[in-house]
Amino acid sequence: MTGAAGSGRRVPAGHVPVPGPRTWPDGTGGASAGRVQGPGPGVALLYEKSRPGRRAGTLPSYPLAKVEVPEGLRRSAPPRLPEVSEPDLVRHFTALSARNYGVDTGFYPLGSCTMKHNPRVGERLAALPGFRDLHPHQELDGCQGALDLMWRLQVLLAEVAGLDAVTLQPAAGSQGELLGLMLVRACLAARGESGRAEVIVPDTAHGTNPASVAMAGFDVVPVATDARGNVDVGEVRARVSGRTAALMLTNPSTLGLFDEGVEELTRLVHDAGGLCYYDGANLNAVCGISRPGDMGFDIVHFNLHKTFATPHGGGGPGAGPLAVTAELEPFLPVPVLVRRADGSFALEREAERPLSVGQVRGFPGPFGVLVRAYAFLRAWGPGLREMSQAAVLNANYLLARLRDAYELPYDRLCMHELVLSARNLKRDHGVSALDVAKRLMDYGFHPPTIYFPLVVPEALMIEPTETESKETLDAFADAMLAIAREAQTDPQLVRSAPHATVVKRLDEARAVKQPIVRHRFDP
Ligand SMILES: *Cc1c(COP(=O)(O)O)cnc(C)c1O
Repeated sequence: MTGAAGSGRRVPAGHVPVPGPRTWPDGTGGASAGRVQGPGPGVALLYEKSRPGRRAGTLPSYPLAKVEVPEGLRRSAPPRLPEVSEPDLVRHFTALSARNYGVDTGFYPLGSCTMKHNPRVGERLAALPGFRDLHPHQELDGCQGALDLMWRLQVLLAEVAGLDAVTLQPAAGSQGELLGLMLVRACLAARGESGRAEVIVPDTAHGTNPASVAMAGFDVVPVATDARGNVDVGEVRARVSGRTAALMLTNPSTLGLFDEGVEELTRLVHDAGGLCYYDGANLNAVCGISRPGDMGFDIVHFNLHKTFATPHGGGGPGAGPLAVTAELEPFLPVPVLVRRADGSFALEREAERPLSVGQVRGFPGPFGVLVRAYAFLRAWGPGLREMSQAAVLNANYLLARLRDAYELPYDRLCMHELVLSARNLKRDHGVSALDVAKRLMDYGFHPPTIYFPLVVPEALMIEPTETESKETLDAFADAMLAIAREAQTDPQLVRSAPHATVVKRLDEARAVKQPIVRHRFDP
């Protein structure tokens, strides 16, 4: 487990088994816990509570024939399992669960991930028996209501994006990226332009962007960020050519800045014969205010689990629908959900969609996520604009409160997130962004994303989201300011944080590369 993974040693007797450190996709060392809640480090291993003969349950015995397991597959000795009573078992795992940190326990400003409150009504709707109990192979006659919901969600998302058609198939933003690039390839082939092999990707891009470009078989052409934090238009102008397949842009960028040259960028790429892909992971900043389609983009992916409120983290579930222009619609993955003239819903397959790139997922959409997103969109309605306005206001409030204590690499108003740098603390006191993040855990907050985007040294990427109160934002800002003061007065306190958590600082890279996921007995 964690401590052991960090040190590469066995779990010492009496060591507390807590869930391992999470390393987030953006490379941050997510916290294993914030302020320690529930029982302290006194929780013993389940094995240490074990007493021979105790049971947390009994299995019924059935008069069934004994299955003969081949000799070679049989155990020679019974497994050594903890033997505990049901109350002890329940208390053990409840104590461990109380050490988790999530959006339901506290502020979670993990930049780029949009960790916002998920309205409980979404859970209730996703759990309605008519939705919840559907079988993936349900015949179409028996799930018209579910298809209706999916179709309506497609219509709403097309409106949010300012584009013509939507597929709900991708299971994540990253899969949406890959599919988007497959559509680029199919579209270019249909235009007789298959030779185009390059995709322009800014140096602030999320790691999934260049990865998707490579997986789709294109070459990454990186472009730099200019002094104001925009994509360097001059560099893009110099890089576009007859080899350009597409531009892949995140707007607002991972710097939390709206790209001021966005229309110029899409025009340059279109004039050169390429397509424009919009990474919509940061759509939380612009919903109902500006639309990627109006900025000149041909393809947009949504992260329903970020912008449209679905519980996420730890790998899912999520959904990464894609919106495209009419030109790209024929290539969308099958089955394609359509509404017939009589108002019923149908799935079109290869026969009706001969140009389709094929199916990219076993079943159409992670359905519960789609229900939550639909409920969320309908609940906000046109007020979705207020959602984005509040998200941007909250981020700018934190920016205003923190800009004197931390460096602001690009001195502009931000969008839904802000990127600060702890470079000043590092230079003056030897306190890094990692140290600040770890110390925040002592103050009861989940750390922000750190060391991303890569172009900002000692980056602290903070996304408060629209669902936080002024009191919460103030408490977080107070903690950040207190840590900046501690860096001056007692830098070692910050460098050795966290102090209040169940486990101290972990070797996160090693914990991922050499995880120890089972108990080992001392000899
Ligand atoms: C989260 C994110 C992605 C990838 O989305 P997943 O749903 O995690 O696959 C891509 N780009 C940006 C900017 C993101 O924040």
